[in-house]
Amino acid sequence: MYSSFLIKYAEIGIKGKNRYLFENALVNQIRFAMRRCEGEFEVRKAEGRIYVDASGNFDYDETIENLQTVFGVSGICPMIQVEDDSFENISRVVVDFMDKAYPDKNKTFKVYARRSRKTYPRNTMELNADIGEVILNAFPEIKVDVHNPDICLYVEIREKVYIYSQIIPGPGGMPIGTNGKAMLLLSGGIDSPVAGYMVSKRGVKIDAVYFHAPPYTSERAKQKVVDLAKLVSRYSGPINLHVINFTDIQLAIYEKCPHDELTIIMRRYMMRIAEAIATETDCLGLITGESIGQVASQTLHSLACTNEVCTLPVYRPCIGMDKQEIVDISEKINTYETSILPFEDCCTIFVAKHPVTKPNLNIIKRHEHNLDEVIDDLMKTALESREIIEVR
Ligand code: ATP
Ligand code: MG
Repeated sequence: MYSSFLIKYAEIGIKGKNRYLFENALVNQIRFAMRRCEGEFEVRKAEGRIYVDASGNFDYDETIENLQTVFGVSGICPMIQVEDDSFENISRVVVDFMDKAYPDKNKTFKVYARRSRKTYPRNTMELNADIGEVILNAFPEIKVDVHNPDICLYVEIREKVYIYSQIIPGPGGMPIGTNGKAMLLLSGGIDSPVAGYMVSKRGVKIDAVYFHAPPYTSERAKQKVVDLAKLVSRYSGPINLHVINFTDIQLAIYEKCPHDELTIIMRRYMMRIAEAIATETDCLGLITGESIGQVASQTLHSLACTNEVCTLPVYRPCIGMDKQEIVDISEKINTYETSILPFEDCCTIFVAKHPVTKPNLNIIKRHEHNLDEVIDDLMKTALESREIIEVR
């Protein structure tokens, strides 16, 4: 029934002179998402709106699903387009539309007419009344309710006439590419893919870094992270995933530092390495999936110690969320099932029985000096030997 879609966008409508930059980014991102779908799609900007016209062998559900991955889209309205704007033709099409879209006519409705062409022979009020009457005459069971209608029927007279009644929610946010780039520390857990999604929702392009510790962590654990990056990239666009071999650094920490501080010291080295890659790749910040109090390494004391090694801002979009709230988002973006696959991760293997929950920064720093002889070389080797996987 539908082959055209009106794309609604919210925030990017208020960006003043930059508006066209945002709209162009949105058009590009929609084109990019539509490349995954079967069929042909024309994405066009007209009169401050974006339209997607589908043709060929396209699938309605697939089209909607992919439009729902484009940040910046607040709503998707499947619509009927007609060229002949005579009132007789509009009446005929509207009746046909109502008949097909609402087989059960035991409903209330309201017409929202708009005409951007002021030369059209009927004004908005007349259009509302006249179209309403046509519908009432065609379907005896249907009723008008101007306050709380079941069906809002939009009839817009522009270049063409557009008829729609459904606004399917989009993901919201801002189009990717309008807000710089950041480096996500992506583990195989539930939280970090959600964190990446949340920041990229605000228009930020992301790259990612994963620390693995072969042979303590397996190829399958790494593949799981690649799979997670791929799921996030449906929304964020392509991700360069930097895979760091962290084994020697972890072993050195294990050998030379107190075991109750292992996690904190290890997290500090992760942040240092992530920041080095971020700086090299023009990223303006780091992103983690940390949430206050979730584990010993995420108390305020621990976060302060981890944060202390960073000069770039660290974005932690899950910081105030409960686990269930993070899980809800991971289910929505389809990463949950992958995140809960039971592969070991590098933190769990070297974890102490009783990690400190109130680490003292000065003591941590003192213990890090135990690594002085080896750590620079280890860091250099880890950075130089990294594997970069382009995930899309
Ligand atoms: P997640 O569910 O994201 O794995 P978590 O609850 O397991 O988080 P931690 O293991 O303490 O928490 O990790 C906190 C954050 O540090 C993660 O959200 C992630 O951003 C980063 N991180 C942890 N382990 C790794 C890793 N192996 N590679 C890359 N980043 C990591
Ligand atoms: Mg983890």
